[in-house]
Amino acid sequence: MKYVSTRATSPAVSLSDAIAAGLAPDGGLYVPQHVPRVEADQLARCSGAIDTAAELLRPYFSGDALERELPAICAEAFDLPLPVKALSTPEDYVIELFHGPTAAFKDFGARFLAAALARVRAQTNELLTVLVATSGDTGAAVAAAFHRRRGFRVVVLFPEGKVSPRQAHQLGCFGDNVTALRVRGTFDDCQALVKRALADRALQERASLTSANSISLGRFLPQVAYYAIAVMRFQKLSTPPLNLVIPTGNLGNALAAVYAREMGMPIGRIVLASNANDVLPRYFEGADYEPRPSVATIANAMDVGAPSNFERLRHLLGDDEVVRQALAAASVTDDDIRETIRSRFARSGEVFDPHTATAVAVLQRLRNAGAGGSWAIVATAHPAKFENIVEPIVGEVRVPPALAELLARRSESTVIENDYAVLRDILTESAE
Ligand SMILES: *Cc1c(COP(=O)(O)O)cnc(C)c1O
Repeated sequence: MKYVSTRATSPAVSLSDAIAAGLAPDGGLYVPQHVPRVEADQLARCSGAIDTAAELLRPYFSGDALERELPAICAEAFDLPLPVKALSTPEDYVIELFHGPTAAFKDFGARFLAAALARVRAQTNELLTVLVATSGDTGAAVAAAFHRRRGFRVVVLFPEGKVSPRQAHQLGCFGDNVTALRVRGTFDDCQALVKRALADRALQERASLTSANSISLGRFLPQVAYYAIAVMRFQKLSTPPLNLVIPTGNLGNALAAVYAREMGMPIGRIVLASNANDVLPRYFEGADYEPRPSVATIANAMDVGAPSNFERLRHLLGDDEVVRQALAAASVTDDDIRETIRSRFARSGEVFDPHTATAVAVLQRLRNAGAGGSWAIVATAHPAKFENIVEPIVGEVRVPPALAELLARRSESTVIENDYAVLRDILTESAE
């Protein structure tokens, strides 16, 4: 399998090269040259999540130097609980993706990327710096995945005061080869600093840099695999197909579900749940695709005004009409999110984080409008991670053990101004 750029002007490359590169040289995103088919029967014979992931991802690794390492990479990335459970409402289910070390679904992608990249770079002695800008969840997942890995260090930039207290604690609690920088600015400022560093040739001569953002192929592929695992688990509870509602920001998670369906998994409708950042809902209702600046919401990991993976979706499906038939999207306000958290807790004791609650709100709307069949919401974070939003509504939320372990550690981050020269000096100093 070769990988091509969505902008089609860069040459096709191997999987290892696409994973190592991040973005394609023409500025596009790497995608597989074709979408392989996998039969559900074939997956049904696998024993457990790790096996299922390796079987699903096998065609994507075919012919690559990493092909023989795939089972070991999956063993590192998928050694996490991934339960599919019934909700309190009939025929409604939840796919819980938040049982990793940092309590959000991004652990799967970050762990797979780290395991793959460590093997791609096994022969080099050079230190690679993984630079990430984060609105909260990505940075912690990447830090956890690369923590104490030889040959890597992680520099995370996050906006001071704009992540939850527990997210901030998490980001600073790793130490060792992880540096957490608290930037006096917004998430967009953090992202601009990272982009500038990645484009700085003089800096790259002194420190080898890469990024680990959500467009990385090494984060995308494992997400396709967890949908296959979830669907196989769902089949033990009810009859396929399973329809999905997915909390969406940069569109990486939902795009993976589209890929899983294209590969032949018994997935029915896929509906995106957006917060007040409604570029995708507007598009799916027929408006042009018009990226715009993001607005801040209480589901902050989805505060995205220009979803990067939209380019991959269009490349996969073709013209707007086909794209609009394949998916639907709906937007949820902060008030809807709070009301959903409140009413579900009052009615059934179920507790959702603000991101997952966008999907619950959208599913309730769909059911009220008469949608039939089995539906699963995708739970992207544990509610304890967003205690500042959830606890005022439902009271104390029990902290899962993995998160508790991180919160018990000391946490340290360095505050910096929104000033590129400061970041550059930090990157060069510690590389020497
Ligand atoms: C990143 C994130 C999202 C958005 O996922 P995308 O792949 O960017 O669409 C949703 N919920 C949580 C908790 C996240 O951390």
